[in-house]
Order: sequence, then structure tokens, then C-alpha cells
Amino acid sequence: MEKEEARRKAKAVVVGGSIAGISCAHALIAAGWDVVVLEKTLSPPNGCATGAGLGLDMVSMKLIKKWTQPQLLQLLSLPMNIEHEQATDGDEKITRTLSRDEHFNFRAMHWADLHSLLYSSLQQDIVLWGHSFLSFCISDDKTSAKVQAKVLQTNETVEIVGDLLVAADGCLSSIRETFLPDLKLRYSGYNAWRGVLDYSNNENSETVIALKKAYPDLGNCNYFDIGSEGHAILYELINQRVNWIWYHNQPEPKFKGNSVTAKVSGDMIEDMYEAAEKVWMPELVKVMRETKEPFLNAIYDAEPLDQLYWDNVVLIGDAAHPISPHGGRSTNMSILDAAVLGKCLEKWGPENLSSALDEYQSIRLVVASEQVLFSRRMGRIKQRLPLPDRDLFDHAAASREESQVLHLRNIPYFNHIPPILAPDCNSSLQSCIL
Ligand SMILES: Cc1cc2nc3c(=O)[nH]c(=O)nc-3n(C[C@H](O)[C@H](O)[C@H](O)COP(=O)(O)OP(=O)(O)OC[C@H]3O[C@@H](n4cnc5c(N)ncnc54)[C@H](O)[C@@H]3O)c2cc1C
Repeated sequence: MEKEEARRKAKAVVVGGSIAGISCAHALIAAGWDVVVLEKTLSPPNGCATGAGLGLDMVSMKLIKKWTQPQLLQLLSLPMNIEHEQATDGDEKITRTLSRDEHFNFRAMHWADLHSLLYSSLQQDIVLWGHSFLSFCISDDKTSAKVQAKVLQTNETVEIVGDLLVAADGCLSSIRETFLPDLKLRYSGYNAWRGVLDYSNNENSETVIALKKAYPDLGNCNYFDIGSEGHAILYELINQRVNWIWYHNQPEPKFKGNSVTAKVSGDMIEDMYEAAEKVWMPELVKVMRETKEPFLNAIYDAEPLDQLYWDNVVLIGDAAHPISPHGGRSTNMSILDAAVLGKCLEKWGPENLSSALDEYQSIRLVVASEQVLFSRRMGRIKQRLPLPDRDLFDHAAASREESQVLHLRNIPYFNHIPPILAPDCNSSLQSCIL
């Protein structure tokens, strides 16, 4: 019996089956743990209707390649070797280059493609779809966590016991709320209008031909346009799709329920087009107009946390560090959190769980805190919102030198590989980064 107990694998219950949760399943399985993921969505996200584009850094690419099929990751993403910052004069309809980073080395991917790649590389019984987390309790000796979840299709409540509870339940994490009831998300002062134009059924689309003339590095570039009403981002995705985002300074919107993403009315979309016409290049506005179902994300972050674990409950991804999107970090941080957590658990073994969680926290807390604060500041600079220690960024007059402040690579720990992951990130990656 004792031998059987010794052979029992440690088990983690992960709440949330998005990028952080699924990455965590990969990392913990690689560390020798059993994993079950509870996700409230009824079934795996289905194709490109879910989400939009994201940028993966070189470290994430390397980690995902270890968990999935490396060739597929390459096929599903496009290079963004260049980061190009430009200013748009909405009256004159002209752009001016502010700055360029030719060694940006990100790759562009659709959220649904990334999720599907990560998910399909897992054993299918690991994620329990349609399981909504309700509550948890920790045993008196702090060695196990009992989780209650509602099975949405049957309405029954189930209990799942694990040695570790991982909160990967996003920026509105209810698990985090039990420890930090006073931590509130902080509205940034702007929303993101976004969408993906799919031109696969019209390869000779005049809109796209004109767009590629105005933005000639599309397909290998992350374009940032700074205008009088915020900034816009444009990059290409595989399968003839163009991803765009417009961060627009606006009062905090009212969203229904527990969400920061909204479906929007036709009137709101028409108002957005009209406002876009005043500030952006006509080529970009045409792309916005031809995009099916643009949607709205309100941009929030939160003050950095002081800790990332309590007993045997640990936070990862947006649950651990709600962050605004201006460092291109959120998804990359989720992947890195998962990988570091896995390595710490492997190093210390289940019998030294608190040492493992301590090391995870010591590696990730400082990085996450600095990146959250940097992204907040970068957002305010690009949105031309006031900061106490600098003037508004003057996109009309800024020199190339002054515009260097806009580069994503200024973010603390850009492409940093924590030493615990160094063996997984081989020398070819190191040479890529340097
Ligand atoms: C459907 C979807 C589409 C997205 N599309 C994009 C995109 O196009 N571009 C981009 O940059 N980012 C996108 N994101 C956000 C991006 O995934 C995250 O910001 C980042 O990757 C961090 O991921 P996360 O797993 O920590 O958080 P999230 O991606 O927010 O995932 C949290 C997960 O927890 C689940 N969850 C929450 N509460 C419960 C509960 N009580 N019980 C069970 N499950 C629960 C949610 O359903 C969700 O799947 C998207 C997120 C989602 C959920």
C-alpha cells in the first residue's frame, strides 16, 4: 500500500482552459504530474470565429515547439521580423516613419490557431469542457485542494481533489478574488476596437492590394500607427487574413455580466467607422469597414500582486497579472508562467511543493510586476495620455531618436530566459536573441 502511495503521481487541478491553462497542462505533464483542466466553455473553441491575432516572442515559440509539433507552429504563424512605428496625419492623410526595429523577431498567429495547436497536442481527456468552477477548500494539513465544479450540461456538481490548484481563470479570476477580495481591475482610459479581415475568398481584393501598397512590409511586420485619437496596430495572419486593432480613448464602457469583451451594435460600429475616417489612412479604414463583426475590448490592468501562491493554490496567466496589451506580453507571460511552474515542480518534486511554488513566485513575480507597469506606461505614451514625468508624445514632430521610446523591446526582460528554462531554450535560440 505504501509503495502504491509512493508511486501515485501528484495531481494538479487547473481552472481555465485558455492559453495559460492548456500550456500549464503541457508543462506539468512534462514534469511528471497528472493534470485535469476545468473549463466552463462548453466545447473547444471552433476556428477563427474566436478571438483575433496575437504576437509570440522567440521564447514562447521555443516552449510551444517542445509541447507540440514544431513544423505546425511554423506553418500556423507568420514572421514579424520588423516593428515599424509611424505617425498618421489624419487631415492630410499621410504617414511619417517614426522608428523601426528590424530585429523584432516575433511571429503573428491567430488566437484560435494557437489554442487549437496546444489543445490538440494534449491527450483528449485532460480538459473537461463545460465544467464551471464554483469553489475550493484546502485540507487542514494544506496538502490537498478539493474543487467543486458545476457540469453545465447536466447541472450536477462534481468534486475533484488534487495536490495543487492552479488558477488560470483569466483577468477576472474568482480564485484570486478569494485571496484578494479588494483587488480591482483598473480601466486604462481606452478601448480596443479590433477585428480580422479574411480575404481568402477574394485574393485580388482591391482593399488588400491598396493596403499592401500603403503598408509594404505586411507579412513580416508589426505596424503601429500613432494618430490624434490613439494608436492602431496592423499585421498579417496566415490564410489571407489581416489583423487590426484601434486603441481609442473613451470613457469606461458598460459590459454585460462578467466580461471585458462585448458584441457591439451596428450603430456603434458605424460610429467607429466615421471616427476612424477622420484619423486613419483610407486604406486602413477600408479594411476596418470590410471586416465582419469587429468587436470591442475594454483595456484593463491591475496593480501588481505581492504574491502568486497561497498554500497549494497558485496563479498563472492573466489571473496572476492582468496587464494592458502594449508590451505584447499577456499570452507570452502565460506560456512562460506555465513553463516555469512546470520546471519548478519537476525540480523540487511534489513532496516539496512549497519550495517549488516559492521558486516559481521568486522567478515570475518581479518580471510580471515590472512588465505590467511598463505596459501601462507604454499604453499612455502611445495613447498620448498624461504621465507625471514626461510630456505627451508629439507624434507630429517627434524625431527618430525620441521615437525609440515606442519600441516594444524596451520592456524589462524582453526575450529574457529564466535560468531554470535555459536547458529547454538551446543555443540556437540564444543566438537568435542576441
Ligand atoms: C476565447 C478567447 C479568445 C481570446 N482571443 C485573444 C486574441 O485574439 N488575442 C489576444 O491577444 N488575446 C486573446 N485572448 C486573451 C488571451 O488568451 C489572454 O489574455 C492571455 O493569453 C492569457 O491567457 P489566460 O489563459 O491567462 O486567460 P484567458 O485567455 O482569459 O482564459 C481564462 C479562461 O478561464 C476560463 N474560466 C474563467 N472562469 C472560469 C470558471 N469559473 N470555471 C471554468 N473556467 C473558467 C475562461 O472561460 C477562459 O477560457 C482570448 C481569450 C479567450 C478566453
